[in-house]
Amino acid sequence: MPELPEVETVVRGLRQPLVGRRVEHVWYEREKVIAIPGAEDFAARIVGQTFQAITRRAKYIVCQMDHDVFGVHLRMTGRLYVAVESPADDRWVRLRLGLDNGESLHFSDARRFGRVYLAPDVTAFTQGIGPEPLDDDFTAEVFAERLRGRHRQIKALLLDQSIIAGVGNIYADESLFLAQIHPLRTADTLTGDEMSRLHEAVRHVLNQGIDHEGASVNWYRKPDGERGDSQEHFNVYDRSGQPCLRCGTAVLKIRVTQRGTHFCPNCQREK
Ligand SMILES: [Zn+2]
Repeated sequence: MPELPEVETVVRGLRQPLVGRRVEHVWYEREKVIAIPGAEDFAARIVGQTFQAITRRAKYIVCQMDHDVFGVHLRMTGRLYVAVESPADDRWVRLRLGLDNGESLHFSDARRFGRVYLAPDVTAFTQGIGPEPLDDDFTAEVFAERLRGRHRQIKALLLDQSIIAGVGNIYADESLFLAQIHPLRTADTLTGDEMSRLHEAVRHVLNQGIDHEGASVNWYRKPDGERGDSQEHFNVYDRSGQPCLRCGTAVLKIRVTQRGTHFCPNCQREK
């Protein structure tokens, strides 16, 4: 699933082709792709509105239109790109916004879990989501405060969008490796030093992920169709059985809250 770095890369790639363009028509395959409002309302309201700015909130692409916010969540297999027509090998276009220059914004989604949203305010679909980890005011103190006293596995907490926004399976594993913390440790056992190492690690791996334009491990592609190369820089994720890059011990894979979790049993001790 695309995480913060992948969604941020999509946002950056869409600004140039979309900002300033007006929506002229809407096509969708099934009504279900439109989460809010109803499909007819969606089409009637978005037509005539111009893309003013494109930002990100957690794993949502957030487009400020004239009167509304148009949001997209890519879920497992969603892709967004702007083109006159979708390429012949893309059989998964679920929604299209026709633009005033003859191009269209295509929302392609093989598994059909992705959704679009249209609302006057972004909080209509992002309520309850935790702070943005790359914001300046997301300090080590803020992070520690959100984890304090929680008797839950740290890996599960990092994946919980109400605790911290945008972190998913890949960057959670990479953060815990960098901070040298075992994924099954509960937050209430972490020392102050470990908390601040983890805070630093989360920000570092997300920034690195953005610099590498996201991880194309499966469906994710940039809006220009190219792959990101974050996957070339993983330290533990998807490296089960391979030697730890820090100490040479074989990387292990376990399951934490149903998610495959990679760590070095030597560098990340359970204690
Ligand atoms: Zn190691």
